Amino acid sequence: MPVVINQKKQLKKSASDDFAGDVCVCPQRTVVPGCPSAPAVLYSLSIQQKTIPLRGTVPMPDPFHTAETLSSEEEQFIASLTAVYQASSPFVRKEITETMIRDVYEKTGKTAAENQLNCSACGYPSCREMAIAVIEGLATPEMCIPFFRKTAEQRLDRVIETSPNGIVTLDEHLHIINMNPAFRQFFQCSNAVCGRPISYLMDPEPFEHLLAEPEKMIEITVNHESYHLVCREVLYALPAEKQFVGIFMNITKMQKHEIRLDQLRQHTVSQARELLEQQVRMAETIAACLGENAARAELLLESLVENAQKE
Ligand code: SF4
Repeated sequence: MPVVINQKKQLKKSASDDFAGDVCVCPQRTVVPGCPSAPAVLYSLSIQQKTIPLRGTVPMPDPFHTAETLSSEEEQFIASLTAVYQASSPFVRKEITETMIRDVYEKTGKTAAENQLNCSACGYPSCREMAIAVIEGLATPEMCIPFFRKTAEQRLDRVIETSPNGIVTLDEHLHIINMNPAFRQFFQCSNAVCGRPISYLMDPEPFEHLLAEPEKMIEITVNHESYHLVCREVLYALPAEKQFVGIFMNITKMQKHEIRLDQLRQHTVSQARELLEQQVRMAETIAACLGENAARAELLLESLVENAQKE
């Protein structure tokens, strides 16, 4: 846990006269160039000046007060409270060789001089100082913003390249800018179609709608019959770039499966209906036979009764 020292006098006593300002002191009580725990590192100082160990004792400040707001009693009380810091393992600077610096440059894509931007976005005044901090374990390569951005872009490119969904980008005239491998496979084309209008591959109508209303996102299912392809499509605009993006999900198999299921459902219903009709016909036939038999039996009985009465 770094300790914030807000008292310039004490700093002057414990460090050099050239050093003034609020600093954060790491547990080793060492002001290290580029140490994230020492944001007040003054780059105008020499390395020796920057690495002055803060010897002696340092009063613990009240975190809720600055030196200016303390009453004299509080100051006395605080003066009686002192904390003595003993370095558990003193900071030892590594010997930095040119090979080590070159290794960091290689890792962060800075072997070419033009890639050493010295932009200070990482918090270090130069790429060299940053490389030294990486070697000393005080910084990580990802702290280099151009390197971090490039890595993130490469990751994104990889995601697009390996996506199972077809992805195409068009310019403001609906001409193809680029496409990923899945899109090329869906529409059986190569990068040679880049620069051609999208109408070369498909009906451009959905993209034309988007051109008219770029704030809308279009979600549609399209049957691209000539490619034996059914796609769920999401189309949207990138207004700042004046570009349009199309994401194509291949749902051909799903669609075929649904059609088969539908056919099966219809077949089952028609068979059930046929069975029902047959059952009804059978019941009617049985009922008719029973009625006929009952009528005959009645006639026979009447005839028997009549004959018996005559005798
Ligand atoms: S952010 Fe990267 S390019 Fe810029 S100075 Fe730091 S290390 Fe060099």
